[in-house]
Order: sequence, then structure tokens, then C-alpha cells
Amino acid sequence: MTGPLLAADLVTLVRRGWDVDAATAVLDAHEIRRAELNERGGEQLREWADQIVPVFLAVTVDERCGAINRLLAVGASRPYLTTHDGLRPHLHFAPDAQDVVARVRAVTAGGLALFIVESDGARLGACQRDRCPVVYVDTSRNGRRSYCSARCGNYDAVRRHRAPVSRR
Ligand SMILES: [Zn+2]
Ligand SMILES: [Zn+2]
Repeated sequence: MTGPLLAADLVTLVRRGWDVDAATAVLDAHEIRRAELNERGGEQLREWADQIVPVFLAVTVDERCGAINRLLAVGASRPYLTTHDGLRPHLHFAPDAQDVVARVRAVTAGGLALFIVESDGARLGACQRDRCPVVYVDTSRNGRRSYCSARCGNYDAVRRHRAPVSRR
């Protein structure tokens, strides 16, 4: 699940306002190894996050698949199975020796592709609240999430409730 969640956090960051320290913190939070970004790496990662945006904003399944295919065309590397540290067999999407940007490209592109196979093309989205930059992976039971948080959902509900009544 690292790929889609990491992708969502990178996209949210680029929509909110890219910052290289915040990007490093995102990589750390998702346990990406050797996550230090130099200036060039930070710029490449920002460009990559820009390219992931359409995956979360896509309206149709075909659009979403097309957006992920474009990521795979650039980011796919050589996946392999591993059991390191006594873990159950799991997939690494790129050799460990690759630089951090290449590994992040591989794990986000590959992870999103696998996720979309399992989710029938759904369960990725952007918060419906006006001007909220957050995109999300919908892990809810019914898969009908529209907001990043209860807070954004409540805000919109209250606003609809107070919708202006026409005055004369
Ligand atoms: Zn691992
Ligand atoms: Zn929101």
C-alpha cells in the first residue's frame, strides 16, 4: 500500500505548495530508504508529483488507467520479491541501489497500477471541498468517500445548509 499512499501525499504537497523539506518528511513517513533529496532530486520529485496529479483527478476509469500508464512508461523499474528482515514475501518495485527519485517513481507507478487492478479503477480521489488540496486513497468500506476528512465534509454540509436565500 506504500505506493498509492505515498503518491497521494506527494500530490497533496504539490497542490498545497511544494517544499523540499516537507517532501523529505513525506518520504520518511513512508519509510523510503535513503530519502535525502539534493536540489536536483527535489526538483525531479516535484515534477513527478505533478505528473501523478491526473491519476487522482481523473473522472473516468479509462482516464485514470491512461494516467497511470504514462507513469509506468517513465517510472517502472525492475520489481523483485524479497523477504528481508523476516518479513513475508513482498514486492520491491526497484533495486535498492537506485537513487531515491527512481525508487519513488517505481513504487508510486507500480503501486498505483496494482491498486487500481484491485479497486476496479476506483478509490482514488480529491477532496470535494472548494480549494482543499488534499487527495486520498479511499479505504472506506463502501468506497464512496468525497472528502479528505470529516472536517471538510462538515464544512460543506454547513455551507449548503446556510446557502444564501434570495433577498428582495
Ligand atoms: Zn521491503
Ligand atoms: Zn479536504
